[in-house]
Amino acid sequence: MRPDDVADAPLDDLLAAAAAIRDTTTGRRITYSPKVFIPLTMLCRDPCGYCTFAQPPARLDAPYLTPEQVLRITADGAAAGCHEALFTLGERPEDRYPVARDWLAAHGHASTVDYLAAMCDLVITETGLLPHANAGALLPDELHRLREVSASQGMMLESLDPDLACHRGSPDKTPERRLATLEAAGELAIPFTTGVLVGIGQDRADVVASLRAIAAAHARHGHVQEVIVQNFLPKAGTAMHAARPCPPEEYLWAIAAARVLLPASVHVQAPPNLSDDFAVLLAAGIDDWGGVSPVTPDHVNPERPWPALERLREVTEGAGFELAPRLTVYPEYAAAPDRWLADRLRFPVLDRSDAESLGRDHRWSPGDDVTPPPLLAGSPATTAAAATASPVGGAVREVLDGVLAGEEVGIPEIVTLFGARGREVAAVAELADTLRREAVGDTVTFVANRNINYTNVCTFKCRFCAFSKGPLSLNLRGKPYLLTLEDIAARVAEAWELGATEVCLQGGIHPDFDGDYYIDVTRAVKEAAPGIHVHGFTALEVTEGAKRLGEPLADYLRRLMDAGLRTLPGTAAEILDDEIRAVLCSDKVDTEEWLDAHRTAHAVGLRSNITIMFGSIEQPVHWARHIVRTRDLQKETGGFTEFVPLPFVHMAAPIYLQRKARRGPTFREALLMHAVARIAYRGAVDNIQTSWVKMGVEGSRQALRAGANDVGGTLMDENISRAAGAAHGQGMTEAEFQALVAPLGRTLAQRTTLYGRVPAPA
Ligand code: SF4
Repeated sequence: MRPDDVADAPLDDLLAAAAAIRDTTTGRRITYSPKVFIPLTMLCRDPCGYCTFAQPPARLDAPYLTPEQVLRITADGAAAGCHEALFTLGERPEDRYPVARDWLAAHGHASTVDYLAAMCDLVITETGLLPHANAGALLPDELHRLREVSASQGMMLESLDPDLACHRGSPDKTPERRLATLEAAGELAIPFTTGVLVGIGQDRADVVASLRAIAAAHARHGHVQEVIVQNFLPKAGTAMHAARPCPPEEYLWAIAAARVLLPASVHVQAPPNLSDDFAVLLAAGIDDWGGVSPVTPDHVNPERPWPALERLREVTEGAGFELAPRLTVYPEYAAAPDRWLADRLRFPVLDRSDAESLGRDHRWSPGDDVTPPPLLAGSPATTAAAATASPVGGAVREVLDGVLAGEEVGIPEIVTLFGARGREVAAVAELADTLRREAVGDTVTFVANRNINYTNVCTFKCRFCAFSKGPLSLNLRGKPYLLTLEDIAARVAEAWELGATEVCLQGGIHPDFDGDYYIDVTRAVKEAAPGIHVHGFTALEVTEGAKRLGEPLADYLRRLMDAGLRTLPGTAAEILDDEIRAVLCSDKVDTEEWLDAHRTAHAVGLRSNITIMFGSIEQPVHWARHIVRTRDLQKETGGFTEFVPLPFVHMAAPIYLQRKARRGPTFREALLMHAVARIAYRGAVDNIQTSWVKMGVEGSRQALRAGANDVGGTLMDENISRAAGAAHGQGMTEAEFQALVAPLGRTLAQRTTLYGRVPAPA
């Protein structure tokens, strides 16, 4: 539809055009911002004719909320899972009311904006909630001041009609002041929310002109993250109490006009609490419901409570969409912090982000002892047909249908699956579960093994690694150590006695090691327990070992094999994408070297596994590249035995402590890693392992319903994840694995490293 036709287009045509733009841009995903609403002051110098928010001093207990009140509201919000602290307030009350001036002076603040900045700072410091400052028409220096302490800001443009009766006597509502604020926000690179208030006396031409002015400002600066289209409703006690409410058709027209006239990159929001039937708003092209609070009322429209989150989800899903929480700053801006966020805000935003820069949807982090959310309701599907019965539509459904038709997923399809939300997650998991059953049946396997981390001294500086110590460091996390060959042999003998079939050898790259060290370790292990399977030495260790001896890698790997080595762990893969490795582990083997080490290992007769350490700084596209690169190698060599997702444990990781990484994947992301891998590796890698150390027992149980078939090792003692802060124990017994698997109605079996069965003791 041509922009010039918007004003007179038949409503159905306009709605269809708007919905089509939304569907192409944001698909089936509708976002909302879980927030608390903080009415910092309800005093205002403007007397807008529709407003019940602004009150005279006599009606208020105090001119401003105190810091204690602000903190109480935000603490409640933080506990309820909110991300946003929305500060809404009247405009420059100190210019009208002496009581406001006196209060500010008594509390050491020069202006309302000054106090607002102090409260934003307090909220970030004390609660981590992300302030969104909604302080009206501001001067550039005021916007700049607030940019330092808020993740985003907002001001409704409302209308460009200078003669509206409702704005008479309101100096902050002149079009010039509103447009100047919008422009200055762009010049200052502030992620900005603006919007139009429809039905306050303007005509369609004014709505179109307002939307075009917003689009023009966005074209200059790229800063308009969303446009709110709000409908006027008359309120008792206001000058407009008897005015006609914005007619529903006119409201739908305005929303659709916004979607058609604004660039597709600008999100369009309509509040769900201002329409009796808010489902219809979805048909007009919105992709966001705005802020919804589980703990505070809408102080601007107190007579219209926000719908409960469950109701919002029900309506959204009823219309064929999926709901996703976002931050106050939209993903496009959160993902480019150098341009859009002040230094002070970068980590608070990152810390609340998931891999798509949307809001984390639960408190769970890998390795902690928080119970993960139940993402898979009901019983598992038992047939492919049942897996297709879910009501999920859109791009995720298309990819799943392709898989059911036998297609192999590529990078774009894998990224689409990682974007699954709500019911889509269960649909992806169901299909993965079906593919798991077809590939390996219903048995859940484990291996009896012991990890031996022979040294924590390492010359490498991987920024996620909480395990390694510099050779001379004696820091709070413990002393550097190096086990002797006798220590290693004793631990192996003990593990063999306890029934272990595998020993897993990994450690730091000690400056004194040459390649012969690893051969000596392997020999010591085999001498201590000739029957034990030696699973050891990452691509980094063998590449370094060969390099330090000046020996071709293939020859070196053959010598390790002769000494008794049988499989290599895939660790050191982290994310097989050099863009990410440059940040996480710049001095380590690069992607090609990792792949080459495994290719060479497979060529000489060793087997290995694929791991992925995910959830620190990378995005789903990097996961997809990792999966496709390893799948390609598997097609070439067939040497991989399994895929092991290792969610990033953030608690003690240096890169997190330096405030440069997220707090691991969300549980949704961790679950999807198992499910998407099962789908993507179909026919290539049959075994998907879940790490109980990182996923926890309940998390592993859900992963077993989402494509995983293996629970990994008993470990006996596990040092690396605990060094990073993981709360789960040091070992699992067979009985504990039985308890993990029993509620799933599946059987547990002990396996060898190569997925043969270990006969039960006679
Ligand atoms: S991950 Fe491995 S190579 Fe990197 S610092 Fe830690 S121990 Fe060293």
